[in-house]
Amino acid sequence: MMPPAIVVLGPGALATAQRVKALYAGAQIHALQERAQGDVAFSALSEHLRELYRRGTPIVALCAAGIVIRCLAPLLASKGVEPPVLALAEDGSAVVPLLGGLTGVNVMAREIGAALETAPAITTSGELRFGTCLLNPPEGYALASLAQGKRFVSDLLAGEATRIDGAAPWLETVNLPRDPAARHAIRVSPHAWDGNPEHLVIHPRSVVATASVAHALLAEHVREALSANGIAQEALAALVAPAARMGDAGFEQAARALGVPLRFADAGDPANAAEMAGPAQAADSADALRDQASDQASNRASASAGALLDALALSASAQRLAAGHGIALSVAHEPIDAHTLGKARGKLTVLGLGPGRADLLTPMARAALDEATDIVGYATYVEMAGPLRPGQVRHATDNREELQRARHAFELASAGRRVAVVSSGDPGVFAMAAAVLEALEASDEPRWHRVELEIVPGVSAALATAARVGAPLGHDFCMLSLSDNLKPWSVIEKRLRHAALADLAMAFYNPISRARPWQLDRALEIVREVRAPGTRVVLGRDVGRPGETLRTTTLGELESSQVDMRTMVIVGSSATRGFARGDSIGEKGGEWIYTPRWYAQDGGAKG
Ligand code: SAH
Repeated sequence: MMPPAIVVLGPGALATAQRVKALYAGAQIHALQERAQGDVAFSALSEHLRELYRRGTPIVALCAAGIVIRCLAPLLASKGVEPPVLALAEDGSAVVPLLGGLTGVNVMAREIGAALETAPAITTSGELRFGTCLLNPPEGYALASLAQGKRFVSDLLAGEATRIDGAAPWLETVNLPRDPAARHAIRVSPHAWDGNPEHLVIHPRSVVATASVAHALLAEHVREALSANGIAQEALAALVAPAARMGDAGFEQAARALGVPLRFADAGDPANAAEMAGPAQAADSADALRDQASDQASNRASASAGALLDALALSASAQRLAAGHGIALSVAHEPIDAHTLGKARGKLTVLGLGPGRADLLTPMARAALDEATDIVGYATYVEMAGPLRPGQVRHATDNREELQRARHAFELASAGRRVAVVSSGDPGVFAMAAAVLEALEASDEPRWHRVELEIVPGVSAALATAARVGAPLGHDFCMLSLSDNLKPWSVIEKRLRHAALADLAMAFYNPISRARPWQLDRALEIVREVRAPGTRVVLGRDVGRPGETLRTTTLGELESSQVDMRTMVIVGSSATRGFARGDSIGEKGGEWIYTPRWYAQDGGAKG
């Protein structure tokens, strides 16, 4: 189960929220901004609850049940997987499961109730009678038919007894009306339900399909092979492909279509499979030749699919099933945890954390962080990426060796891990994304090139700073790094001069540091040669972080002592202007700064 979001609206709920958080690894407290301090801040309750719900995140809301119902009501009509949703009295005196009966809401209600020493308000008859939800089998099992399941449970509630066919260890302690001679049966089996209305069929995910070649019909062929053996599609635990095919979109599509994880195994050289298929026979017509060739290809594919199954070293009880089309199938007696089969295709996500505050971290970046096994980055940013789940490995480095960090990330990812490389702001702006691509281009390691690579954007410091004061980057602008670590200073001077001449607004990253004490003054000298002393300047320090400061000044008054390496310097164009903010009369520096969207012909601003 995904860790729950524990939603609080005020400080009064925090103590109870902490007790719930302690029950679930990876759970986070989502707190209403400016009311309470949690792990994640949100500003609008209904929007936030809906977003969590849509993402399938279990919700424990410490507020009135009615509020939760009203917020989620618009989403309830549409079908789909429903995460558990509970309302909790902020003093912990009531636990009310609201939604997600089939995804374990009552299990959570019992767990939370036990921790808070409160009887949960469970209203589901089956749950009350049997102490479990028969329609929500544990991880590794899937219900054949929900509609049939509901009918079956109401039969039991009406007084029918049941027998259990097959292994259902989770039902051993459950208080079911049992009778070995009953007509009703709970059948735990990979075989498809035959339509018998007195049977509740639960499929253990105990079947593995392997294939050595991907093509458009692969998913269809796997379905055919399962059904030819009388096996239900829900019993499929994983699709396994050769490790050398990692990154092949055909396999990914097939696994997605089948709704199972895609795993990879090494099964020697598939060329050997050709020899196993036997030498070509003489053929007397073109058609026969083509048939024979495709037979051979298919035999070869089946042989290598079989070799893949062997490579997985499944349990001794696993049984090979007949399957054509270059597919091999194996069924075991118990569910198979797909994560233990071969290895996964590794994933590397380079993401931007934004300037620092949680609500400027995009949901996409948050999701990539949540699903990562490893977080790689400069120590400060790895810290900023938190709170992390227990088990997520931090690779915090203090060195500035970005290429080395990128290589390390590829090593981890190509071993099958899900790696998040973190940068502040946007990863493509003077940060890790380019370093990661540079490392990849320079590498002739095929494993690195098979890693699934994704870049997730973030809110860059220039944009975050600009938004705080208005819109100084509202017209053409450029972003410049004043660091001469990776480029000659002469290039920086030249770019500054041209940008100043072009009357672009400018955002300076890395404006100054102890190792580069004089560069900023020199840069300002160049800009001042072209731009008027009255030009607007914005200084944002630690924007979006605790201790944020903003200052507006002019090019003439700007001093390099007002700037440090945590500062963003925005120098306006000739058109950048300011006016007093209505909401800060009397406050010093209370001004909106913006650059109009239009521009006059003569190179200056209109008006
Ligand atoms: N990838 C980052 C930039 C990294 S370069 C981004 O897109 O924002 C580092 C420089 O960015 C710092 O020297 C500073 O100039 C600027 N910077 C980063 N975070 C900042 C923040 N929160 N407030 C002000 N400036 C910041």
